[in-house]
Amino acid sequence: MSPSTNPALAIAAAVSAGERSAREVLDGHLARIDEREGDIHAFNLVLADEARAEADALDARVAAGDDVGPLAGVPVALKDNMCTRGVATTCSSKILEGWQPPYDATVVRRLREAGAIVVGKTNLDEFAMGSSTENSAFGPTRNPHDLTRVPGGSSGGSAAAVAADFAPLALGSDTGGSIRQPAALCGVVGVKPTYGAVSRYGLIAFASSLDQIGPFAHSVADAAALYEAIGGHDPLDATAIPQPVLPVSRSLDTGVEGLRVGIIGELSGDGVDGIAPDVAARVREAALALEKEGAIVGEASVPSTIYGLSAYYLIAPAEASSNLARYDGVRYGLRVDGANTSAMNEASRTAGFGDEVKRRIMLGTYALSAGYYDAYYGKAQRVRTLIIDDFARAYENFDVLLTPTSPTTAFELDAKTADPMAMYLNDVCTIPSNLSGQPAMTVPFGSGDDGLPVGVQVLAPLNEDEVMFRVAAAIERSAPEVS
Ligand code: GLN
Repeated sequence: MSPSTNPALAIAAAVSAGERSAREVLDGHLARIDEREGDIHAFNLVLADEARAEADALDARVAAGDDVGPLAGVPVALKDNMCTRGVATTCSSKILEGWQPPYDATVVRRLREAGAIVVGKTNLDEFAMGSSTENSAFGPTRNPHDLTRVPGGSSGGSAAAVAADFAPLALGSDTGGSIRQPAALCGVVGVKPTYGAVSRYGLIAFASSLDQIGPFAHSVADAAALYEAIGGHDPLDATAIPQPVLPVSRSLDTGVEGLRVGIIGELSGDGVDGIAPDVAARVREAALALEKEGAIVGEASVPSTIYGLSAYYLIAPAEASSNLARYDGVRYGLRVDGANTSAMNEASRTAGFGDEVKRRIMLGTYALSAGYYDAYYGKAQRVRTLIIDDFARAYENFDVLLTPTSPTTAFELDAKTADPMAMYLNDVCTIPSNLSGQPAMTVPFGSGDDGLPVGVQVLAPLNEDEVMFRVAAAIERSAPEVS
């Protein structure tokens, strides 16, 4: 896909103008799903009939002269941890078997109001815990660029759906990198907005102080259009920032003249281990491209980011252990009977949760237990504050920061399933901005030595999503083509 094409915006323009019907657009995407979904497994559920009915209704409104919204007729794939009224929402877990939410997530409602068509619910690591989409109870998703490779995770189904052109847009959730890392591995744009910039009402919680919904798209401009459709205050989410949606589209063509861009040394090859040289090289090339466009590029230091991973693997499991306590065999989905209530709770949770979810619940329960709370959870929270302070210092000298998104390109299926630490290390570059709440996004920039896509991550201060998009657009304009 050439970086200058914006397939979602093109569809919306053509459908609004009556030049293409939403139905014809949808049928084209459904045909591609028919062709390749058997190999890729991006979806837990394809909503073909529902989507056709919505597309027909939208076409009728266009014919009647209605303004049907900025995403008119654009198919969107939804990560299957966002609630859809009356439609199974599984988190790729057996524990939610048979459960149908009684309400729509705010993002789903806003998508419909914008004229988008939801085509299906995408596969994920169970409860969004993972970096490869191999922890799904329904089997893994495969990378459309190479079916022997993972798509990344946990929003691997959404990333693969966009990369395979099953939908030009998708939504994912990002707690430690779950939008950005799969986007990078699948060669698409992925955005984690500022914490609170997009409502999380109806997103099934993993770690509430970190979770954020955001877009996947083929281009920065398409991602910006989706961001603007879903963002802005929502009274139903107490953590939503009480402000209108940030205008991220308007300065995409402004360029980067005079902007100060810092490469975070600790995450670009000089600090944490495991950053592949070919990936680090693409980040330097992206920075050089920005310099050519007039940006002032320098080396930034955010020393405590190297402890981000350790802090995250205490804070996120701690919050998860609390959030997942509600799956008790009574209120949702699966129930396995037992001699008494607690035996029933235990049997349901034993049968319903996969290994990684159980590992997180145990880690989190331990970290929060009396006697250990200060040493683990409390200390991790103090590290979180250090990271926030270090970022604040770095942003005194820079407008945006750059790092690799993922330490490597897409790896083979099963390469890391036996070693949780190796899997966790995938998120070393993405986790710090979840801990700080700051926005971060990935843009494809060339490929690794293996020919697979590489993503460059752009980070910005809280609520500075606009400058992040502006820099990402400049990187996109200078990105080499991926074969
Ligand atoms: N891979 C990270 C984890 O397993 C992040 C997941 C996410 O962002 N949802 O926790």
